[in-house]
Amino acid sequence: SKAQLFDAENKVKITFKDVAGLDEAKEEVQEVVEFLKKPSKFTKLGGKIPKGALLVGPPGTGKTLLAKAVAGEAGVPFFTLSGSDFVEMFVGVGAARVRDLFKQAKDKAPCIIFIDEIDAIGRMRGKGQMPGSNDERENTLNSLLVEMDGFGTDSGVIILAATNRPDVLDSALLRPGRFDRQISIDKPDILGREAIFGVHLNNLKLSPDVDAKKLAAQTPGFAGAEIANVTNEAALIAARRDKEHVDMQDFQDAIDRVIGGLEKKNKIISPEE
Ligand code: ATP
Repeated sequence: SKAQLFDAENKVKITFKDVAGLDEAKEEVQEVVEFLKKPSKFTKLGGKIPKGALLVGPPGTGKTLLAKAVAGEAGVPFFTLSGSDFVEMFVGVGAARVRDLFKQAKDKAPCIIFIDEIDAIGRMRGKGQMPGSNDERENTLNSLLVEMDGFGTDSGVIILAATNRPDVLDSALLRPGRFDRQISIDKPDILGREAIFGVHLNNLKLSPDVDAKKLAAQTPGFAGAEIANVTNEAALIAARRDKEHVDMQDFQDAIDRVIGGLEKKNKIISPEE
């Protein structure tokens, strides 16, 4: 049923200006951008560029967004693979997909391979607790390790992976020459939320009473994904009310709605920092 297990985007429009906050993480990936722009500048001096970096942090904090922005900044293709798609795969298929992905990526280098939810493939071997066939997951993991070892940094392919469970990852993935770098992507603090609101408010027709600072203060514990959600809900609520502009009341109602949704999902909203 899952015909396409990876996705390729040749022209990525997202850049760092779409990613609010995350200044340290952006600084850390800047080096990857420089490398992808001009691999030969680095490799000709004999330096070894890391093959992969692990973006670690809770859901919805912008890991995918940041990885995509790296591709956008460097102007290189972006290949995505989602770990969870492998869970219910027939024997042999996952490993074949990984090989196929790396082959295509090498042809398009310089480029980025992004593996979302790598923990779904990269759990410690012998520790089950995931649906689907364990053998198949191990096959897939092994083929990922083989592929990562099989190319040098001169191939121009950089692998970024995301997880919110670095603790369950097979240590083989974290060895030097594989994902030997971790970049942490935390939930935004109040200033981070204000910045994220800033980015998303840009897309709306706003009433002058809308204040990103106030919205940030009212959304403790929200990740970027929830803020994006609030912004979109507010626009839909305003439209339903036949308004010409989205105002603070629409935002208030959107925040209540998103909090209601989070409570239903039994998510815990952490107290304000
Ligand atoms: P998951 O672990 O659930 O896959 P993620 O960390 O990869 O989540 P994204 O998919 O990148 O999160 O974020 C979802 C959406 O939330 C983004 O497309 C964007 O609209 C918004 N968002 C998240 N973080 C930020 C941010 N720092 N700046 C601007 N928008 C953000």
